[in-house]
Amino acid sequence: MSKFWSPIVHQLTPYVPGEQPKISNLIKLNTNENPYGPSLKVLNAIEIETGNSLRLYSDPTSERLVNAIAQYYQLKPQQIFVGNGSDEVLAHTFQALFQHGKPLLFPDITYSFYPVYCKLYGIEAKTIPLNTHFEVDLSDYLRPNGGIIFSNPNAPTGHGVGPGEIEMLLRQNTDSVVVVDEAYIDFGGESTVALINEYPNLLVIQTFSKSRSLAGLRVGFAMGSEALIAGLIRVKDSFNSYPLDSIAISGAAAAMQDRVHFEYTRKRIITSREQLTAELETLGFDIIPSQANFLFVTHPQHDAAALAGDLRIKNIIVRYFNKPRIDQYLRITIGTDDECKILVDALRNIVNTP
Ligand SMILES: *Cc1c(COP(=O)(O)O)cnc(C)c1O
Repeated sequence: MSKFWSPIVHQLTPYVPGEQPKISNLIKLNTNENPYGPSLKVLNAIEIETGNSLRLYSDPTSERLVNAIAQYYQLKPQQIFVGNGSDEVLAHTFQALFQHGKPLLFPDITYSFYPVYCKLYGIEAKTIPLNTHFEVDLSDYLRPNGGIIFSNPNAPTGHGVGPGEIEMLLRQNTDSVVVVDEAYIDFGGESTVALINEYPNLLVIQTFSKSRSLAGLRVGFAMGSEALIAGLIRVKDSFNSYPLDSIAISGAAAAMQDRVHFEYTRKRIITSREQLTAELETLGFDIIPSQANFLFVTHPQHDAAALAGDLRIKNIIVRYFNKPRIDQYLRITIGTDDECKILVDALRNIVNTP
């Protein structure tokens, strides 16, 4: 607290990211990073960028990157917005596209940045409980609103809804923007991008942090109608003209173009996820079927916080949320097969020790 803070700063409840400890030999399964490195083509593109040209400002329109995304998804460049991580893209979306006076709807259990942005931008929030299977049921969202946002697949549950259900919502919800946060879509969900040309109020947000293994580069993007994208650009150009540096623009464009590395790593993660699910089930865990690069698990005989603590002693960190409804769950990122094996051995040891 400080008397020098503006009134709004006193009101904020900042997001608390998963920790990034500086410990060696750590098995880090707490923030859904990709266990595999980025494409070598990305590293080459970055190296080419790290020369004298860094004295120049980066391209304020990130044209190379916008074009690479447009080409990948068969959209017009005017339908793409890029930002400094999808967190920044989300922030601009909250400011540019959600109406005041009516509540923004989002699930009670979801990405915890959404309520943070509501406070920052003075948007009223109305949370809609997940159903008893911990699923987003979009028929619960057919009510007056100033916008709707959900992640698909959802975090931290990993459950995904299909494009048919999302289209049902879009057909009936035509007066406010529907945002689908597809941070994990490449791990088995079906993207809603295909509906963009039909529904002018649909915005799809993705990130390079998870499936393209570039969390440290900070690049995210939104796709939608030209009118929605123009609104985001107006906010961006009133906030920061150069949110992406030259290195990020080149590296992310190369990542979008390297489909081979992308397909190989994402399929490996999907395979490891299915193996890990089966092994944890044999240890007695209940697991929500996941379409993401993490599992959301609970054990009927073991307290989740205690499990997280026991794993930490063994240098394995997973994510525990001390929040209503999910305080007996752990969210575990899919690591390499070696990391998954070390995790399973550790958990076997923990759950079999009386
Ligand atoms: C990781 C994540 C993001 C943020 O991604 P960045 O691009 O790294 O900012 C957004 N939404 C969800 C649901 C996420 O899990």
